[in-house]
Formats: sequence, structure tokens, C-alpha cells
Amino acid sequence: MHLFSDFKYLLFPTRCFGCRELGYSICSQCRKLWNPHIYQSRISNLTVYSAIPYSPVAKNILLAAKEQNIKSADLLVLAALRASLQGLLQKHSGCALVPIPSRSSSNRRRGRDFIHEIAISVAKDFGVAVLPLLTHQRIIRDQSKLNIASRRENLAMALTVKPEFPGNYSGEKVVILDDLVTTGATINEAYRALTRGGFKVQAAATACVALRRRE
Ligand SMILES: [Zn+2]
Repeated sequence: MHLFSDFKYLLFPTRCFGCRELGYSICSQCRKLWNPHIYQSRISNLTVYSAIPYSPVAKNILLAAKEQNIKSADLLVLAALRASLQGLLQKHSGCALVPIPSRSSSNRRRGRDFIHEIAISVAKDFGVAVLPLLTHQRIIRDQSKLNIASRRENLAMALTVKPEFPGNYSGEKVVILDDLVTTGATINEAYRALTRGGFKVQAAATACVALRRRE
């Protein structure tokens, strides 16, 4: 058994998806950095609950889950979101989860809607519903390289509630779910669109938070 795994390792050397060092798919150093705690930040008048401070390693772990479909990276993201939601739902019980929609080009490339899939998985743990209410009403650019002002501009009026969720959901208490909060532009826009659609947004939860990039 060991012989086989050693042999396999020689043929297909594995790199840690956190730091790219040769070895296990996630090394003990990177695993230690992914240790969920509750962080609360404010975006307009919403409290955002997060579990992991954003760092180069955290960035690689999110990318490994999102872009490479690495199952063990998915599990780390799930553990982080579970911790964030645990803190959030203690205060706002029974809210439905609204995942931030990815761009359709990203969904096509990845072969799945990452945040939606993750939301369904954590919702089961807490016995809450997932309402994929939001959609893009116009094309947006990839935000990862945009600064705060450009992100705001990129996202202004970009989201809307899908027409298939008519008034009967109005007044429903919801929380916004995303993998990462940096400038808060996405959460702000989701908050605007959901509030306009009549939903009562209670808070937001993310796996990671960029602590030094608060506005
Ligand atoms: Zn590592």
C-alpha cells in the first residue's frame, strides 16, 4: 500500500495547493493558517461574518476550490463558511441563504456554480433554505484586478432579483453568501438589489475577509 502510494507520488508529484510546495495536497503549515475564527466587519449597515483572514495562502486555497475543483479545498471553504454561518445564525436564525451569482463565463469554465453549490452544502448543515435570487442584469468585468473605485463602478446596478421569484417571497429574511469580502462592493450591490426586491437582508457571511482592505 505504502509502496504503491510512494510510486504514485514519484510519477505524479503532488504540490500543496496553499503554498505550491511539493508534498501533500495541503501541507501542515497551510492547514494551520486555515483555522476558522469569527471576524465581523461592516459593509454599509450590514454585519459580515467571516472565518479566515485573506492571505496569499487563503487566496490559493480559494482558487484551488473554485478554479481547479479540488475536493479537499472545497472542504476547507465549507468549514470556513460553516463557522461564519454558525456565528451569524445564532443572531439571525432561520434566514434563507442567497449566494452571490458568479459570472456565467466563470460557471462555464468551472463546470459548476461554485458559491451556489457550497451554499446548498452548508444550508443542509443548518436546516435553512437556499434562494438563488440574484442574477446579473448586465455584463460585468472580472473584479480581481480592479481597485475599490473601479469595483464599485463595475458593480453599480449590476445585480437584480430574477423574475421567477415574484412578490410571494417578499419580506423573507435572507443572508448574503460569498467566498470572500474585500472592498464590500459586491455585498453592497447584492444588498441594494435584494432590498429593492422586497427582501429583508439580515447580514452576510463569507469564508474569507481581507482585513486590511476595509474602506
Ligand atoms: Zn502549503
